[in-house]
Amino acid sequence: METIGVIGLGIIGTPWAARYQAAGKLAGVWNRTPKPEAPAWKATAREVTEAADITHIVVADPPAVSAVLDAILPALRKGKAVVQSSTIDPASAASFEARVCATGARYVESPFTGSKPAAEAGTLVFFMGGQAAALDAVEPLLAVVSETRFRLPTVGQAAALKLAMNLNIAGQMQALSESLTCTRQAGIDDDFFFQVLAKNVSYSGLARLKETKLKTRDYAPQFSVKHMHKDMRLAEAASKTRLPLLRAVRECLARAEAQGMADDDFSSLIRLLDLGTAGR
Ligand code: NAP
Repeated sequence: METIGVIGLGIIGTPWAARYQAAGKLAGVWNRTPKPEAPAWKATAREVTEAADITHIVVADPPAVSAVLDAILPALRKGKAVVQSSTIDPASAASFEARVCATGARYVESPFTGSKPAAEAGTLVFFMGGQAAALDAVEPLLAVVSETRFRLPTVGQAAALKLAMNLNIAGQMQALSESLTCTRQAGIDDDFFFQVLAKNVSYSGLARLKETKLKTRDYAPQFSVKHMHKDMRLAEAASKTRLPLLRAVRECLARAEAQGMADDDFSSLIRLLDLGTAGR
């Protein structure tokens, strides 16, 4: 498979299209809100799938993926493939695989971790689920936008693993926010807090990624509150047991959305802890 098209030009799809174009592999792009200035722009999603061997979808949520599939299904056939990278739930991933494979095309569920900076640098981590032949067919092009690709035997496991990773990140973000808030209230400087944290067993890639944003109170989105909230809703619905931390973080995310922070970076959850908005 030689060419790829990107559907969804948001925070992630835009740098992907740029990287595929720089590699000489981009056959088309489409976004629901038209962006005709984008490289290889097509007027419809279906035209992207007609032009490309692989259609790479990165949109908001399961209903958005379903709407894209409605549009591109008539252009799918044997010899084409769909890579679905939006964060969705395992049951939706299985139903999308069935719809695509019924046309003769291949389907790979390939959610990812790494945020806007990793998308720009091409250092994302994919969790590729599906039939081995499908994974083999798409992996060389996914290597253009990623550093590491893990394989799972089913599309549902790939989706489940991604939701589990985001639960871990959401919980860490809340703990980091509460920890930093406590030291701020004690009059301890943020730089000193992060120096100490770097020597603590709890120091993480998330703390490293969000340190500057937290210190400078820069809440421009790398990964938005609304998508983390969506992921926690999907994870909670998919879980067979009650998960107390997930529930607590989901409620914080719901409160953040209700306060107009939907499109802010999810590190902005710390603002809910400011005196006066903490909801004691
Ligand atoms: P984003 O900036 O909010 O972009 C969302 C995209 O989805 C936009 O192109 C939007 O089109 C499109 N869309 C929404 N509803 C649609 C519909 N009904 N039909 C067609 N297109 C629709 O989101 P993002 O940060 O790029 O994230 C995209 C996906 O990757 C999400 O599932 C997110 O959870 C996941 N993800 C993101 C990150 C990250 O760090 N950003 C990391 C891992 C996973 P419009 O422009 O018309 O609104």
